[in-house]
Amino acid sequence: MDTNFNDLGLSEELLTGIQKLGFEKPSPIQAKTIPLALTGVDLLGLSQTGSGKTAAFALPLLQSLDLSSKLVQGIVLCPTRELAVQVSEEIQRLASGMEGFYTVAIYGGAPMDRQVRSLKKGVQVVVGTPGRIIDHMKRKTLKLDSVQVAILDEADRMLDMGFRDEMEFILDSLPVDRQTLFFSATMNKGVNGMIKSFSRDAEVVNIKSSTLTVESIDQTYYEVRNRSKIEVLSRLLDMEFNSKGIIFCNTKQMVEEVCEVLTMRGYLTDRIHGDITQTNRERVIKRFRDGKIELLVATDVAARGLDIDDIAVVFNYDLPYDPEDYVHRIGRTARAGRSGKSVTFVFGRDIHRLETIERYTKQPVKRMKIPSQEEVEGAKSDTLVSKVRDLLESGSYNTYDTAFDRLLSAGNNASEIFSALFHILNTQNNREFETITEDTETFVPNKKKRISNDNSYKGGRKRSRKRPFRRKDRDKKRNRK
Ligand code: ADP
Ligand code: MG
Repeated sequence: MDTNFNDLGLSEELLTGIQKLGFEKPSPIQAKTIPLALTGVDLLGLSQTGSGKTAAFALPLLQSLDLSSKLVQGIVLCPTRELAVQVSEEIQRLASGMEGFYTVAIYGGAPMDRQVRSLKKGVQVVVGTPGRIIDHMKRKTLKLDSVQVAILDEADRMLDMGFRDEMEFILDSLPVDRQTLFFSATMNKGVNGMIKSFSRDAEVVNIKSSTLTVESIDQTYYEVRNRSKIEVLSRLLDMEFNSKGIIFCNTKQMVEEVCEVLTMRGYLTDRIHGDITQTNRERVIKRFRDGKIELLVATDVAARGLDIDDIAVVFNYDLPYDPEDYVHRIGRTARAGRSGKSVTFVFGRDIHRLETIERYTKQPVKRMKIPSQEEVEGAKSDTLVSKVRDLLESGSYNTYDTAFDRLLSAGNNASEIFSALFHILNTQNNREFETITEDTETFVPNKKKRISNDNSYKGGRKRSRKRPFRRKDRDKKRNRK
């Protein structure tokens, strides 16, 4: 299962786009469906949320376009406005190396005229919600007679939301010799029926998740905005981890960035990722194994097979897109019968992917409060005190009577001298604390009842619109009163 993006039959321009996004290897659904879809067959791709279905259909779609024409050649139906925006953004990013490519997202609740203007200028791909797409079709601002690829993203959810008539109307209006791709996390009867009526012998690619145990690992997560991640990571490192840790990021760029900032902040850090030569990677790993560096920043690919026994903690600086990668990552700790810890950073809609991971591993991930500056200081003092106590007990320290006498005779008492020394120690190579937005937010413990992905599909329009983070907003408002 070691497919490379280069093996999938994608064009140079698309490989450039993928490279820019920093994707290192195709996810399982991408590896399986992209070569198939490129042959022009219809297909149904099933794999869990967060497994990279967007790129799985977007890449073959982009490859099929004739950019010398500005007629609509591809259409993607999405259940919600948020998804339509997300999908069209990802398509745009993947197409960043394709000169002359245009796309637009069209969805309800937004002014028509801007969408009309974009459509008039000419786009090759339209991403939208069924209702609004039909509005444009009826106004003749959207013509679908040159569509060659139709994609239904989260078809099951669209059906649950009551879009059946709209979906059928749109599919009926498309040229019959088009390619039709269905992608979703779950299957249901409705989707099956739709596939039968609107596709030709669709091939089914079903990526099943295997189960792996990670029981001996204490799994935690913190809600952190991207811009606060480094500060929170530093606090956690200062507070409780003074042994080996691996920090996983999703892209090479992020690995470079995190490694650089941590080094600047005084942590013994190095990194490995796919662009670093094998020899150099091995050198870094050896230094890590020997304890010459404490923190290793890595991508999934580079860390594959990494076998080091005394890793105390694994950080998911970025949440992996594939639950299996999560298991592989955190499995770097708790080796050789030891216990281990994993710390995952999530924010916003990541929470859905974390839930998928919890279902996949059948293990809960505990939400933790970000330590405040005071708590970090306190923990550091505690460490220092216990170190002093241990030393006093063991008696294995040098005496500095002359220095002590000099300070005493200058008129200071022992307690003052101790405080001054302690202060020096405590502030030595101390970094400045950064105040982050999260410091001012209220922590709601046990905020575990979030909507879950697969079930939320059954909830219909109203429930699936509910965003998991609204509760915090509400609490914030309450506190202000
Ligand atoms: P799904 O539609 O299956 O729920 P998405 O397509 O939204 O999943 O992908 C989830 C996230 O993973 C996105 O942020 C996407 O950019 C990222 N991603 C997708 N494919 C890869 C890959 N091959 N390598 C790294 N990240 C990826
Ligand atoms: Mg998706």
